Amino acid sequence: MSATAALTPDLLALPRKTAAAQPNLIGMTREALRAALIAAGVPERQGKMRERQVWAWLYERGVREFDAMSNLSKDLRATLDGLYRIERPEIVTRQVSKDGTRKYLLRIEGGHEVEAVYIPEEDRGTLCVSSQVGCTLTCSFCHTGTQTLVRNLTAGEIVGQILICRDDLGEWPEEGATNAGDKRLLSNIVLMGMGEPLYNFDGVRDAMKIAMDGEGISLSRRRITLSTSGVVPLIARAGEEIGTMLAISLHGTTDAVRDTLVPINKKWNVETLMQACRDYPRLSNSERITFEYVMLDGVNDSDADAKRLVKLIEGIPAKINLIPFNPWPGAPYQRSSWERIEAFAEIVNRAGYASPVRTPRGQDIMAACGQLKSETERARKARPSETV
Ligand code: SAH
Ligand code: SF4
Repeated sequence: MSATAALTPDLLALPRKTAAAQPNLIGMTREALRAALIAAGVPERQGKMRERQVWAWLYERGVREFDAMSNLSKDLRATLDGLYRIERPEIVTRQVSKDGTRKYLLRIEGGHEVEAVYIPEEDRGTLCVSSQVGCTLTCSFCHTGTQTLVRNLTAGEIVGQILICRDDLGEWPEEGATNAGDKRLLSNIVLMGMGEPLYNFDGVRDAMKIAMDGEGISLSRRRITLSTSGVVPLIARAGEEIGTMLAISLHGTTDAVRDTLVPINKKWNVETLMQACRDYPRLSNSERITFEYVMLDGVNDSDADAKRLVKLIEGIPAKINLIPFNPWPGAPYQRSSWERIEAFAEIVNRAGYASPVRTPRGQDIMAACGQLKSETERARKARPSETV
């Protein structure tokens, strides 16, 4: 049973400025925001102070109107309102699963649609964020992979997903309070929605910098995980310039199998990928790489696979995340049986690796890993040949 819950009216009520001539402040770096304020007439010597004030309104308090920025003069608020926007993507639908998972279908400029999923758990609440509309890659078990890339999301559209989720959870602090409380509803972010985050490097980096900024959303980099299918040349750079935790979509232990599941493997094979993992900056026992491994019946789930997996990651501080395959219409695979998944996990555990099996969440609303794909752009197109 799924429920498309009614949206709180105020989420939809705000008028939208459509003119592209009014740049969106959401998603600007601090430097760009300051420059925008100075361009609006703020004296240079006040630039830093005004930047901090506006930044705090946008990301600490989540305001959506210039008029709420009570420590700016009325004139300045009106000028900013004429020049700029504070805009999140538009919420098309919000579905709530019987297990509490929330899936948002969001419309961005150009009429494209992307999804974001909020997963509440006992000790945390994780938002799964999209980085692209569609994906250039064509992993054969992934629903997003059947949709050609439409475009990269802007930093503002990525941050906008976080803001929308906090709006929906009612999680903006009261005046005078900060975001620093330890019992947060939205406490973690995973870049595991639609798209390959490393192929939208700048957008993802700028958005995550905003999410980690201590005077705003203020999420620790340890609570953010970037998942990549294996864009090897950008992995070290991600460590240096973004600095979040890293997850690798491994899914196969031999090149022959991984070539068919994650075709980017033909460009950067398992061995090259493992070397990039070994070289990942700051790798340590307290900052492990997560290896994601989707369990596909009869394809990659044998005891021999489990043993090869353990051997492959030898020496890398690692966790292994076993993901039961989440089916989608027309998918060419079946999920491994629970006995098989348990046997596989047992081998990995005995080798000393934590290997939580990721419980599929939000299945009744097609919100689980790899099921996201926007309805409007659902491919009637033929599956593209690989375009990496
Ligand atoms: N593009 C990035 C991040 C998005 S996918 C990447 O590939 O890493 C997040 C995770 O879900 C990846 O490990 C992906 O391989 C996995 N996934 C994709 N489709 C899936 C499906 N149908 N069932 C289970 N996991 C899936
Ligand atoms: Fe793209 Fe990741 Fe899906 Fe592969 S698994 S097609 S990289 S979104």
